[in-house]
Amino acid sequence: MIDIHMFACLQDNYGFLVHCSETGVTATVDTPEVAPIEAALEERGWTLTHILNTHHHFDHAGGNEELKARHGATIVGPSADADRIPGIDVALGDGDVYRLGAIETRVFDVPGHTRGHIAYYMADAGAAFVGDTIFALGCGRLFEGTPAQMWTSIQKLMGLPDDTRLYCAHEYTQSNARFAVTVDPDNADLTRRVVEIDALRSRGEPTVPTTLALEKATNPFLRPHSASLRSTLNMADSDDVAVFAETRSRKDNF
Ligand code: ZN
Ligand code: FE
Repeated sequence: MIDIHMFACLQDNYGFLVHCSETGVTATVDTPEVAPIEAALEERGWTLTHILNTHHHFDHAGGNEELKARHGATIVGPSADADRIPGIDVALGDGDVYRLGAIETRVFDVPGHTRGHIAYYMADAGAAFVGDTIFALGCGRLFEGTPAQMWTSIQKLMGLPDDTRLYCAHEYTQSNARFAVTVDPDNADLTRRVVEIDALRSRGEPTVPTTLALEKATNPFLRPHSASLRSTLNMADSDDVAVFAETRSRKDNF
């Protein structure tokens, strides 16, 4: 009933189409680049009806106006950032449930990368579109938020079922992996994963979607409680926010 189609956009963004076969409704999650979105619609024979924006950055909302003009799509986005989402029609915030055709879509406010970032969770598909909040082995840069905000946002997403597939908006995994092993060198799951990631990328294959379970086991930004991470950072007695903040700042300077 729910079809998800993923494809590359720009340098390292992913585009996503979500299609409800019961109603024919089709959404693009963000609008990084118009041409590949149009090509994907054409390839699938789907008609664009909705745009679901995660945040205002140009590589996520830059194609809004052109796609809306061409298809008359309804633009859904964060109420906390409505003034920065071009063409927004429906503004949503934490706890809202939006019906995308027959697909129940739950919204989480996940500020940190930007002040009005939201994530979309579709329980029936076991899928969450997390934008630039969680990446495979990484998290978004804190352009407009504090470490405490971002850690709260990440914890909200960590409350989803472990088998949830996380559709991250960028293919940053290999460079994230290079950093992750420096702060969590004794994590065997991480070491194993890095080998798999390198194999996937050498074949030109995506590392997205990932799963929440895999990120909980290997992503340092979801593991500020980890004893081995804390010992590398010399922060055995710090709180989770401080460990998260230190991890983020080391990544920024890596
Ligand atoms: Zn962004
Ligand atoms: Fe982005």
